Amino acid sequence: MNCYDCHTAERTTPALAVCHHCGAGLCAEHARALPDTVHHLSGTGASTLPRRARRISCSVCAEAEALG
Ligand SMILES: [Zn+2]
Ligand SMILES: [Zn+2]
Repeated sequence: MNCYDCHTAERTTPALAVCHHCGAGLCAEHARALPDTVHHLSGTGASTLPRRARRISCSVCAEAEALG
């Protein structure tokens, strides 16, 4: 698979990751690794766990999620 964002710019770059949201292949330049906070619901309310998951996103989805 090749990077989708590079493909739209008429370049061909092997993909290193896949956007978790849209499924586009992404090269190192276009992949965004976002910290994904894990919420744990307990009896007294939500608490945030110290460990953070990782989410790979393309620039389009990262910006869309930042706005949302
Ligand atoms: Zn790319
Ligand atoms: Zn995406």
